[in-house]
Amino acid sequence: MKNLTVGLGERSYPIVIGSGILPDLGVSLRAVAFPRKVAIVTNETVADLYGATVLDSLHRAGFQGAVLKVGDGEEFKSLDTLNNLFDALITQGYDRSSGILALGGGVIGDLAGFAAAIYLRGIPFAQVPTTLLSQVDSSVGGKTGVNHRLGKNLIGAFYQPRLVHIDVATLATLPPREFHAGLAEVVKYGVIRDADFFAWLENEPAALLAMDAEALVRAVGISCQIKADIVEIDEKEGGLRAILNFGHTLGHAAELLAGYGTLRHGEAVAMGMVAAAAIAEDLGLANARDRLRIEELLQALHLPVRLPSFAPAAYLEALARDKKVKEGVLQMVLNRGIGDCEVRAIAHPDRVIPPILEKYS
Ligand code: NAD
Ligand code: MG
Repeated sequence: MKNLTVGLGERSYPIVIGSGILPDLGVSLRAVAFPRKVAIVTNETVADLYGATVLDSLHRAGFQGAVLKVGDGEEFKSLDTLNNLFDALITQGYDRSSGILALGGGVIGDLAGFAAAIYLRGIPFAQVPTTLLSQVDSSVGGKTGVNHRLGKNLIGAFYQPRLVHIDVATLATLPPREFHAGLAEVVKYGVIRDADFFAWLENEPAALLAMDAEALVRAVGISCQIKADIVEIDEKEGGLRAILNFGHTLGHAAELLAGYGTLRHGEAVAMGMVAAAAIAEDLGLANARDRLRIEELLQALHLPVRLPSFAPAAYLEALARDKKVKEGVLQMVLNRGIGDCEVRAIAHPDRVIPPILEKYS
């Protein structure tokens, strides 16, 4: 078991990571003096798998818990769902001395976190992430929100949880494609921040793919630690936090072009990281060996490494729509070798991107 702290002054909180620790959730909640009355926000899929364990753990620790279900899927990360959730919270008497617990993936975490941020002007919130993506990324850092019909994540708030409780054993029931997609973000942390971690991942693909408990606790723990370190320096994305977007520039464009839902987010990030490493190579920030190591590690983790082949003009248009190009200049996170990175302004994306797409799509 691993215990980390996200150090944000009076908004600091623990991240507890272990394998098979879901039954200890109530103990973790007690340790942070979480309110006694807890609304467990989840969906049908996750409730069926883990609802009973969570309820039992809460009851044993003296909490009063009730499950509030929302639909399963990105389309339910909406203002409509939020409104339904508020109906349930109000009619069931949740007041300022209650708390909200998010049990599920990033969709549930973002939605429940935003509900907690604005319900009665804010009530305590805890994260119990059950997908790899949510365990290593979305549950840490305090970004909460919902989608608007005109765009993703347009409505939201920075709102930190009181606790993040991560049981890596819950990943065993995840569809393999979801698990692999989450590994892309794990690799990302190694590339941008930690060469030793990257080298360890290169040595342990089999243990990770077999969901070896020790390997998972380590991979999730180091990922959370890196994200926490970055968030502590730049909570509201004024600067450094942007490096977490490594691989997300062309990756996000590919996600847009393929149509949301076609590629898993992590798959698009994997492809985008290889393309970014190729640009870093062209600019002399990294070498061919670095790019190849990233590519080989992603492949070993069952991730795609070539962008879908849409016209370069379509990619450039998607980058512009995504606000990644401003006044003709593309802002992009590029790796310096392995374990370090920088944000670069690319003055002529129309010259830089097409040759990369030629080779890496
Ligand atoms: P998700 O929440 O949709 O979960 C994926 C699927 O797995 C769902 O069908 C879910 O019901 C199911 N599931 C969850 N846990 C399971 C388990 N243990 N076993 C079996 N099935 C399980 O998707 P996600 O990838 O976790 O999250 C994506 C969302 O996260 C997006 O909305 C994205 O915008 C958001 N996100 C937020 C941040 C942030 O900083 N807040 C960062 C990255 C992503
Ligand atoms: Mg991401």
